[in-house]
Amino acid sequence: MGDMNPVGITGGTGVYEIAELEILDRVEVSTPFGQPSDTYVTGRLQGVDVVFLARHGGGHRVPACGVNYRANIFGFKALGCDTLLSVSAVGSMKEEYHPTDIVIPDQLYDNTRTRKNTFFDSAPAIHVSLADPTCLVLGELLFESALKVGAKAHKGGTYVFIEGPAFSTRAESKVYRGWGVDVIGMTGATEARLCREAEMCYGTISLVTDYDVWKEDSEDVTMDAIVAILHQNADMAKAILNEVIPRIPAERGCECRDSLKYALVSSPEAVPDEVRRRLNVLINKYLPYEGV
Ligand SMILES: [Zn+2]
Repeated sequence: MGDMNPVGITGGTGVYEIAELEILDRVEVSTPFGQPSDTYVTGRLQGVDVVFLARHGGGHRVPACGVNYRANIFGFKALGCDTLLSVSAVGSMKEEYHPTDIVIPDQLYDNTRTRKNTFFDSAPAIHVSLADPTCLVLGELLFESALKVGAKAHKGGTYVFIEGPAFSTRAESKVYRGWGVDVIGMTGATEARLCREAEMCYGTISLVTDYDVWKEDSEDVTMDAIVAILHQNADMAKAILNEVIPRIPAERGCECRDSLKYALVSSPEAVPDEVRRRLNVLINKYLPYEGV
């Protein structure tokens, strides 16, 4: 177990309020893509090194569409993480996915329009495969762990990502339903893309809070009911993290952590030192920076 890289975890501010977590430090990271949402919290959970980041910053000050995902993911990579577990609240797009259920999606449909969702929008030219946008090994472990802690969990499914900050119109929601998607949210597709470019395994836990706006016969929702669901979901997410983290093996047999191996199009001579230095954390394995 000694060769395990730290496991990254991102979600709401509450995700690192896990009783078993031993907090060791709070680390500020600067990146070529700007400032991450918050300081990273490093610690140990069940004997494993972990790094937490509150996706929306302390006090949930940044909305999903305003999060600097590139800085957030770059920061995890800079701190040595080769895995990111992401926790997010979603709306259900299927009758059978009830509020407080857990979904472990394996497909993503990115319907955002203006996000900065690549590290490689200038040289070098890199085209990663996103056919399977989440790590299937982590997906399996997350599903098993969710069942183990008593969640009503669904394995696989498609997560449609919208820009936000507003929720869908009823017309949009009905169109998405026609596409056959399972859940709807605003965060994970951007994280999944960036994790693949950063050669990190990405697994996501979706916590169902409501039925979006398509379900016209659902009973009126009260604020009390929503708060109760949010609390229940947060407790479940923490229980799953506590369960899954010690199960993640150092060797996984997936290709996430070699995703750039055949993705680099630029010839190495065409990638200047300046770029190698700036993106060192991401591309050092393939395009080393020789300077000081
Ligand atoms: Zn993987």
